Amino acid sequence: MATAVLEPTVKISATKLLINNKWVEAASGKSFPTLNPATGEVITQVAEADAADVDKAVAAARAAFEKGAWKKMPSSQRGLLMNRLADLIEKHADELAQLEALDNGKPYSVARAADLPLTIACYRYYAGWADKLQGKTIPVSGRYFTYTKHEPVGVVGQIIPWNFPLLMQAWKLGPALATGCTVVMKPAEQTPLSALRVGELILEAGFPEGVVNLLPGYGPTAGAAIARHMDVDKVAFTGSTEVGHLIMRAAADTNLKRVTLELGGKSPNIIFSDADMEKAVEGAHFALFFNQGQCCCAGSRTFVEEKCYDEFVERSVARAKKRIVGNPFDKNTEQGPQVDQEQFNKVMGYIESGKQDKAKLVAGGNRVGDKGYFIEPTVFADVQDNMKIAQEEIFGPVMSILKFKDLGEVVERANKNMYGLAAAVWTQDITKAHAIADSVRAGTVWVNCYDVFDAAAPFGGFKQSGIGRELGEYGLANYTEVKTVTVKL
Ligand code: NAD
Ligand code: MG
Repeated sequence: MATAVLEPTVKISATKLLINNKWVEAASGKSFPTLNPATGEVITQVAEADAADVDKAVAAARAAFEKGAWKKMPSSQRGLLMNRLADLIEKHADELAQLEALDNGKPYSVARAADLPLTIACYRYYAGWADKLQGKTIPVSGRYFTYTKHEPVGVVGQIIPWNFPLLMQAWKLGPALATGCTVVMKPAEQTPLSALRVGELILEAGFPEGVVNLLPGYGPTAGAAIARHMDVDKVAFTGSTEVGHLIMRAAADTNLKRVTLELGGKSPNIIFSDADMEKAVEGAHFALFFNQGQCCCAGSRTFVEEKCYDEFVERSVARAKKRIVGNPFDKNTEQGPQVDQEQFNKVMGYIESGKQDKAKLVAGGNRVGDKGYFIEPTVFADVQDNMKIAQEEIFGPVMSILKFKDLGEVVERANKNMYGLAAAVWTQDITKAHAIADSVRAGTVWVNCYDVFDAAAPFGGFKQSGIGRELGEYGLANYTEVKTVTVKL
């Protein structure tokens, strides 16, 4: 295939901490390298926040929350600023997509076609909510007038992952800014660059000082300092279930800050033999391999009905073998590298474990090239429920196909897992589709589609996939406190 390689032209301008609308070095003077996963080479050094910087940022966020321009601003004006930010992101979309591809390894064309429009839409969606947050008047006994107000929860700590850096930033900032909260955000150490560039656009849009503070740095240092800070009112976290437990514990041990968590998954993707096979094969391929397999909601347990099992496996293998892995800046590339050496090792370890457990390796299984963190699109068939690859989150391009006989059986097996983030079903039978939607324990169920996201549609997990919801009106509720006011008449 002819290559069509884009030469990245983006200049990296933001590499420091953003505190109180100023770009500053870390108090320690330390910095850390961020790498290009396609080559393993250092892109640039970034200032490394730690507890002292968190203290400064929280103080700025507290001041902005309690007094000053943000506090006094009419809510419609908050919406206007957010729309301005959305416009600026749109104006710089090519450049931001380049940063995303450089720092994360995802294909540029995918970032430009998916991450950027979703990010922009998220800011616009929440901008619209800014002046539409209202409580209720509630009839009570006696001669009293009772009403509720939805007030911002306060200073919010937000800790985000590396798989969708710009989009996860938008999912977090959108509802926080719409409700009038102020923010101390830590981007993932693997991918700080696009979040910091958005910091420059936040200043350009005209947000008052202290409203958004950005602290690149590591989890156990800067992240943990946010989670245990006594003056942070809420922490919103997206990442591993393991760290989710730590965040919750830190909140419990300190000030009982509100906690919302968006964690891992092992989502069942259920294919019945009456499905449109071509769409089901492509849909299941996309459900697992999209974003190098690095999606919390990846369809990572592909359950296939016995009657169509052999055909489905054969076609899925053919599709996986056709998947184009390579340079994220080549427009033909479907799959870039894994984000870093650690994730690469982890995924290769799961491939080894699948082989040892005697799952049938029918595609891939190896590293691609000798530079960067590329892995072949890998498919295991005849996977059993008790194998590690069927139970744990792999977070890489490794598909596990499991065989089932009937609806009752597949529901029971789908639910036998500690996660409950998403699920999908492929069938032409409306009754089966609804039966699955009704009985799987998951925050999102897709019917004859996968990974359909919209800023208006809530997303989040049952069980150990998380607490609370992001996006939509439900997402807003996680950024407000309800105040009840009762007046004697
Ligand atoms: P992680 O949970 O360690 O990192 C996510 C974020 O949390 C990062 O910003 C990180 O710096 C921060 N963090 C880490 N330790 C922390 C701590 N003690 N206190 C506060 N913040 C902390 O995830 P990872 O190590 O990058 O990836 C490990 C696995 O997590 C992946 O293989 C995948 O299974 C899962 N993961 C899930 C998502 C998701 O979208 N749900 C995203 C990334 C990773
Ligand atoms: Mg980690």
